[in-house]
Amino acid sequence: MSLVSITAVGDDVDAAFALAMERAACTDVISPGDRVLVKPNWNACAIAGSTKLCTVLAACRWARAQGAGEVIVGEGPVVVGRERIDAYLREMGAVEALAKIGVEFVLFDDGGHRLYRDLPDLPPEIGLAEHSLACDVLINVPMLKVHSCCMTTLCVKNLKGCLRPQDKMEFHRIGLLAAVVGLNRLLPSQINLIDAIEAMEGGHNQGNLVPLGVFVAGRDRVATDAVGSALVGMGSGQVPLIRMAGEAGLGEYRLEAIEVVGEPLEPRRFERPQDRLRQSYPDLTIQEAGACSACSAALIDGLFTAGGKRTVNTVALGSQAEPADNALVLGDCLKDYWPTHAHVQGCPPVGAEIAQALIGDDE
Ligand code: SF4
Repeated sequence: MSLVSITAVGDDVDAAFALAMERAACTDVISPGDRVLVKPNWNACAIAGSTKLCTVLAACRWARAQGAGEVIVGEGPVVVGRERIDAYLREMGAVEALAKIGVEFVLFDDGGHRLYRDLPDLPPEIGLAEHSLACDVLINVPMLKVHSCCMTTLCVKNLKGCLRPQDKMEFHRIGLLAAVVGLNRLLPSQINLIDAIEAMEGGHNQGNLVPLGVFVAGRDRVATDAVGSALVGMGSGQVPLIRMAGEAGLGEYRLEAIEVVGEPLEPRRFERPQDRLRQSYPDLTIQEAGACSACSAALIDGLFTAGGKRTVNTVALGSQAEPADNALVLGDCLKDYWPTHAHVQGCPPVGAEIAQALIGDDE
């Protein structure tokens, strides 16, 4: 039976981290001299939607106390450009804070990638960060958030940051869920801890923060994700990614087969991105059929950026969509409608260009 701990986090974050590890039987995973990689979710999009720095520092100090020889923190953020990534890290104060405790921060894109070809459920070629493959122990530390495509984005999904930049969008094109499961077959994470000091509902970067004040931890990443998802009201089997990872033999997704220790598991219903979309844009008709998650995510980006300036009320996306006459058509797979419809090109189209089209030509 998989073991997952829920641990209250007070002022002493290091103590809570250590207790979460002890409760989840993670104290014998690191051997003296091991190389340890701590992988947070530092996406470069929103600090509020990122693993807290204090949690990452606690993970590093704990790994050291366990006898690790070398500890590094590594991430491959969303592909937003080096300038934005540097500004995000500066604003968080991450690099300096880690340096103070003798830990190096590495951007995976600077460290090289190992190539894999022709593997099931994955694009024809992917590259995995050498740093993620060279460590003895990977401590996987995402934040607890809901997600428009994956329902929740936790430990299983967090490993996507170890891919080359070009692979990340390709995952969305070929089918995100199966591809993330394929990635997890290649890359284990021996220790998993979900930072739910504050969790995010309504969206995975621009949502609202909800203080939960807990860590969820386990050696089994799928079981850890199952308990994290249950905390936000998504029980066993309701999160397809976690169920698929479980069915692929990567861990236990059935709550009844997971031993939860520490604080009680008290579910509360988090607002899902789809709820927010309906509430925020009641006048908007989305004609979606056969769309990749990349296009849906770009539309959400575009809607957020356009805000109250939007003049378009009907949007069509996905290769099987049948756009109404007044629909804004998104993406290359609806190319046949371009001669007759306002459209945004791209596969997927870019959120900023969708925003411009949603606002209309006179802006
Ligand atoms: S344009 Fe079509 S194929 Fe390309 S990402 Fe969008 S839905 Fe997928």
